Amino acid sequence: MAESIQEINLNNDSPTRDNILITSVDQLVNWTRRSSVWPMTFGLACCAIEMMATGASHYDIDRFGSGPFRATPRQADLMIVAGTVSHKMAPRVKRLFDQMPEPKYVMAMGACTVCGGPYIKHGYHVLKGVDRLIPVDVYVPGCPPRPEALLEGLFRIQDKMKRERVLDRERIGLRPKLLVE
Ligand code: SF4
Repeated sequence: MAESIQEINLNNDSPTRDNILITSVDQLVNWTRRSSVWPMTFGLACCAIEMMATGASHYDIDRFGSGPFRATPRQADLMIVAGTVSHKMAPRVKRLFDQMPEPKYVMAMGACTVCGGPYIKHGYHVLKGVDRLIPVDVYVPGCPPRPEALLEGLFRIQDKMKRERVLDRERIGLRPKLLVE
């Protein structure tokens, strides 16, 4: 934020000295948004254990402004799909995604979510990539990914937020066409 803010130094007698900052709406809103990413409390399989570890004291995701896991999709702006998405679970994942307000982001955490993982060949019951169901912003590979990898994925999500145009509604329209409705 600091690099994008212009500080105006008025003369010493001015009551507004050091109290005026100039920035753009995009910079300000994006800064607040990426400093308060609220993930949804949502885990599907073993990868979710690593996600829980990321939120625990040792890795402390709160220091990056993303601590409060929300128990409802209506208060979350980040869905971390952590674990195997079975065909039975897929409609529920889609419903939760639909209930999240825009702007919303999706992280595919782990090999199962990215492409089917160990189930890619014989897992008749597993969706071969959650991006067939919902649009994915960041992929985090691994089986399971370590908490450091999840944090890196969070940073990439925050990078996307940093570049967004707040008044530009095209982002919603630019979502890729999904293979499964
Ligand atoms: S990627 Fe590996 S650790 Fe993660 S849900 Fe699949 S099998 Fe489990």
